[in-house]
Amino acid sequence: MIESRMIEVPDGIDAGTQIPLTTISGAGPGPVLALVAGNHGYEYPPVLALQKLRSQVAPAQLSGTVIMVHVANMPSFVGRTVYFSPVDGKNLNRVYPGRRDGTVSERIAFAITTQVIEKADYVLDLHCGDGNESLRPYVYQVVPADEETECRDRLRLARFGLHARSTERLAPNRFPLSPTDHLE
Ligand SMILES: [Zn+2]
Repeated sequence: MIESRMIEVPDGIDAGTQIPLTTISGAGPGPVLALVAGNHGYEYPPVLALQKLRSQVAPAQLSGTVIMVHVANMPSFVGRTVYFSPVDGKNLNRVYPGRRDGTVSERIAFAITTQVIEKADYVLDLHCGDGNESLRPYVYQVVPADEETECRDRLRLARFGLHARSTERLAPNRFPLSPTDHLE
């Protein structure tokens, strides 16, 4: 089953917004994978990639669930701003897990944390070079607690063809902090 809907981010100390979401429920049981695009609203390739991917996932052949956040940061996407929200001046990618009573970026982060990330077994937060950047492919990853998971994750990354890998030991619900500090 494929369901597309909007997550409503209600008005708070500033105007609310919406987050377009697709959930693809497979025919069989399995893990939940969340794919998040548009945390930085000027980074269009991940947004386009999920639009293409949505039609390529066949629920009948899927075991588990895929959740797609098509544009996490709608104010930045519509406002065409690099890094920062045009509403509150905050970088959505730096305010997770967010706040229910915060500014719009913090409320977006709270909505995605509670309605997407906490429901997922795996989360891929998709980025690309922002409007002023040219990046080589790489990934950030929280270092798992055990070696078996670490090895399995390294194999997964190799299958993606990623050229670099970054690691950081973080508490749950924290995201890596700097886009440049941790490249290997
Ligand atoms: Zn980004």
